[in-house]
Amino acid sequence: MKDSNFLKENNARHLWHPMAHPADSLANPPDIIVGGEGVEITDVDGFRSVDAVGGLWNVNLGYSCQPVKDAITAQLDKLPYYSIFRGTSNDAVIELSWMLKEFFAPDGLSRAFFTSGGSDSVEVSLRLARQYHKVRGEAGRTKFLSLKKGYHGTHTLGASVNGNANFRTQYEPLMAGCFHIPAPYTYRNPFNETDPERLAQMCLAALEDEIAFQGAGTIAAFIMEPVLGAGGVIPPHESFMPGVREICDRNGILLIADEVITAFGRTGDWTGSRHWGVQPDMACTAKAITNGYFPFGAVMLSDKIVEVFESDTSGKASIGSGYTYSGHPVGAAAAIACLKETERLSVKDNAAARGAQLFDGLKALQAKFELIGDVRGGHGLMCALELVSDRASKTAIDKKTVGRIHRATYEAGAMVRVSGPNIILSPPLVLTAAHVDTILSALDAGFASVA
Ligand code: PMP
Repeated sequence: MKDSNFLKENNARHLWHPMAHPADSLANPPDIIVGGEGVEITDVDGFRSVDAVGGLWNVNLGYSCQPVKDAITAQLDKLPYYSIFRGTSNDAVIELSWMLKEFFAPDGLSRAFFTSGGSDSVEVSLRLARQYHKVRGEAGRTKFLSLKKGYHGTHTLGASVNGNANFRTQYEPLMAGCFHIPAPYTYRNPFNETDPERLAQMCLAALEDEIAFQGAGTIAAFIMEPVLGAGGVIPPHESFMPGVREICDRNGILLIADEVITAFGRTGDWTGSRHWGVQPDMACTAKAITNGYFPFGAVMLSDKIVEVFESDTSGKASIGSGYTYSGHPVGAAAAIACLKETERLSVKDNAAARGAQLFDGLKALQAKFELIGDVRGGHGLMCALELVSDRASKTAIDKKTVGRIHRATYEAGAMVRVSGPNIILSPPLVLTAAHVDTILSALDAGFASVA
């Protein structure tokens, strides 16, 4: 490995960081991570911390999952690459499809379309939604609806359904025909409604209103995260997603669940949609499907979609989407091993138990520190603290103070993620009660440093 000075200097000289201002990255250089073991990471200066970010919501099994490493090595030796474009397939991706079918059977999803990551999965799902309606003879259904605060990656269709200005404004004009409704975000919403159930009903009414305004026959799909993640961990009331399902059905609109974060145990169930008892028409997955050990994703398709495409005789159902790395055999081998470990360790149960411990601990921190305006979570291992400079007016905290809290928390032993005014926690699902205590005490030290 190159030495610490070389890495720091050349990071500044030769690379730009995603989701960062280049000047800010120069002024506040990143922590350079050089090792990972269990649920801990080590930086270039040899400092070890608990990774409360879980990579980027994806390293559910931690950094030492030997069966996944072995599966990757074995596949590299056997067949490092072959395409699954028309005319060829590979054994690893077939076995994975068969496993995924079993995994997603309770969600009513039986076929997979493979991608290289979450943004790809979103893009493919939106393209297939339009194509589905064209094949069925409803070519006018081209628009998309989604939630403000939602995050759906950064490809152009995904950015167009994204509900956060940060990922949109500098790239406009985006795709025409994408419209957003208010998110069931109890802490801040245009209705000033603090009751989650009443708020869910108001957001559903807004959805009905938008559909009536646009004309149901112009809308292809509604896309949502079962628990909003990057927008600041916003779990909707339990009535919300079933309500969306019912409205979509009544109006002939497809429901796409963006499960890029929520699939494979993170919410304390195997999928976020299952948590709410909803069967989507498509589910976008990525992240924990390979735990970050290989870039990979899949869109899972319901029988409703499959039947329309497979019974088409017009030629319109020929799929004009795909990536060189769709169905990559090494990614597929990694995914097979990840799924086996995910099920063997029943990580969803640990996510539920440790998630409850983390959520309670964060509530206790809120009682201690005025800066914590809202604590969100309660569904597995995805939690957020929304920071304010004043609780009564809910004035958002300044960037500098969040930066200081982040630094002091890291120095006290936990890597957390800052996203706007939120501190987001999404640790590996295999962490122990002691690791949760470490995260909480590190946050305590972080907040104490600015109190
Ligand atoms: N959808 C959701 C819900 C996500 O959280 C993300 C990534 N955080 C994406 C899509 C995009 O995934 P990727 O970064 O792998 O392209």
